[in-house]
Amino acid sequence: MNTPEHPDLGVALEHSRSGLRDGHRRSLTRLLFLVTGLSLAVFGVLQVFNGFPRIALVEWAISGLLLAGVSRLRTTRRLQAWIYVYLTALFAFFLAIMLFPDASISAFAWVLMMPVLAYLLLGKREGLWLSLPFMLAGAVVYLIYLGRLGSAHALIDLLNMVLCGALMLVFMHHYEARREEAEHRLVAMAQTDNLTGLANRASFQSTLNRTIAECDRSGTGFALVMMDIDHFKLVNDTLGHEAGDHVLAQIGRCLSDRLRATDSVGRLGGEEFGLILRDVQPAVAFELTDELRQRIAGQDLRYGDVDIRVTASFGIAHWPEHGRDAATLFRVADRCLYAGKHEGRNQVRGLVAAAPDPVTPKAPAGEAG
Ligand code: GH3
Ligand code: MG
Ligand code: MG
Repeated sequence: MNTPEHPDLGVALEHSRSGLRDGHRRSLTRLLFLVTGLSLAVFGVLQVFNGFPRIALVEWAISGLLLAGVSRLRTTRRLQAWIYVYLTALFAFFLAIMLFPDASISAFAWVLMMPVLAYLLLGKREGLWLSLPFMLAGAVVYLIYLGRLGSAHALIDLLNMVLCGALMLVFMHHYEARREEAEHRLVAMAQTDNLTGLANRASFQSTLNRTIAECDRSGTGFALVMMDIDHFKLVNDTLGHEAGDHVLAQIGRCLSDRLRATDSVGRLGGEEFGLILRDVQPAVAFELTDELRQRIAGQDLRYGDVDIRVTASFGIAHWPEHGRDAATLFRVADRCLYAGKHEGRNQVRGLVAAAPDPVTPKAPAGEAG
């Protein structure tokens, strides 16, 4: 791959917009619906005793909606939209109860809950954009409230609340930013081969599976190429393991430099690499791969005072002609690669014609290269 971050990193992070995975965000949202639904039902009863039956009816209606939402949330695909509607309504409700003429001062404590809920359910960026305007509105309402009180302590009360709210927001933002960074680093580490900086085997495998799924939809073909450095053991045996490592890193760079942005490359293990060439016909895949072979064979890999030259053998399997699933493609490419090894190394091998049965590809006797 040409970018330091492999595509799967993006996919993994997509599932964790906030500190919570999608499944956990779903269960937390359901819990919030349940708790607020039940609380509103109880508040409704209290409103009846306080002599506000109409408010009680409104609260029971909302409570019914929230409780019905608990089961809908189990399966909905629009979790994000549900969270937005819920948080916006909840924050607006917090502001509304503070605006009541005889509002208790403790009602303002709910403003401090805003960044916690928004960051937890929406992540850093969206959490900030949703909670900040509501918190500012809360501060204004609080100012009006204190003005009504006209007490000498009003300024101190205001400062306490504003400072506490601002710190809460800053801490949540800072925590979420550091957590996101750490997650990026961990996911990148888990998917990268640290010697070459390429995708590791697991990451390459999932890129291959994703490519198969995408090509299945678009109908375009692609080639899976497997490459193995020839007589690599000799490099280690004659120049040492560090020189071997140096060669592997250089070869990795050479491969990723030559590939197009849509192609992928990974180190499958040892001195074996895998390439995915998107949107190519078999003949073009063969040409591209042979160009890579020539570049590697012609490259001086300088290590200290020594010029090292290596060659590599390549096996190509084309989707969908030689197999529709990853395991079959790997098997075909591997067979072609080892046919090339047997016949002298430093060559590219691919099946000539489409294999009639992808699970049992044609024998190497029918290969070209
Ligand atoms: P062939 O042409 O048949 O592929 O011969 P080869 O010598 O390349 O293959 P063989 O499988 O015999 O040896 C592979 C060598 O690669 C052996 C192993 O020590 C070396 N190797 C595997 N991983 C690393 C690594 O990370 N660094 C270094 N320096 N060497 C490695
Ligand atoms: Mg080898
Ligand atoms: Mg090998």
